Amino acid sequence: MDSVTIGNVEVRPLLDAAVLMDPRIMFPKYADQMLAEYPDLIIDERQLMGLNITSFVLRSAGQTILVDTGLGPRKRSGFPPGNLNKTMQDSGIAPEDIDVVVHTHLHIDHVGWNTVDNDKGEPEIFFPRARFVIQQPEWNYWMQPEKVNEPGNEHLKQCVEPLTDSGRIQFFNGEEAFDENLTFIATPGHTPGHVSIGIYSAGERAVLIGDVSHHPAQLDHPDWSPNPDVDPVQSARTRDELFNAAADDGRIWIAGHWPEPVIGRIVRLDGKRVFRAL
Ligand SMILES: [Zn+2]
Repeated sequence: MDSVTIGNVEVRPLLDAAVLMDPRIMFPKYADQMLAEYPDLIIDERQLMGLNITSFVLRSAGQTILVDTGLGPRKRSGFPPGNLNKTMQDSGIAPEDIDVVVHTHLHIDHVGWNTVDNDKGEPEIFFPRARFVIQQPEWNYWMQPEKVNEPGNEHLKQCVEPLTDSGRIQFFNGEEAFDENLTFIATPGHTPGHVSIGIYSAGERAVLIGDVSHHPAQLDHPDWSPNPDVDPVQSARTRDELFNAAADDGRIWIAGHWPEPVIGRIVRLDGKRVFRAL
């Protein structure tokens, strides 16, 4: 997919993986209604829908910034290994070109390429020059020993914990400006320290939403919070508010888990919120 320019910021989506999503697992309470109401979003005879895992390379204020790092190279249960290394290469971007890695949150499909295993099978940071920007509340929540040691959280040990003593983490707290164009927007619910990234540059606006929404069906049903949401009531509120903000001011909407193209606008049509690709 091509890059888009918002003011003085270039945004390039880079697909790590396109996976199949089972609404009965992802949205158990709403799956029957979802399958009945959105048959055109079913892309597999087993009644599965698509879920992209997309990272973004931003060029802003002279820096090359990677937002989220996908599933990573390791095979994990329920997921294929990611391809971000290849899609970066195809776009002419080397790991050493990345100045900053920014995490919207610390889930398994957002931290994967932080590290790769070396010859001894030990995790090594994949981006040799990058500093890692992480929200302090998000770090505090996931890096408690009981979370790190929880079955299914091996990604924390492999992809997040190795950053601890690297001297390369920069912590932020909520809605702080990141540079002259980028600002964190607190969008809690999916995880406690989840943030979106607001782009405000030369009179243009966009929002890179992270996991505020996983699926365009949520435009009609913002209360359909998926299983991984830590606080499904808060996430539903956050989702509804961000949809409305985007529909109200026309900011560009960048949603890495949505079907391609993942960049467009939310508009109101006949009283409904609708996604229009750029
Ligand atoms: Zn995600």
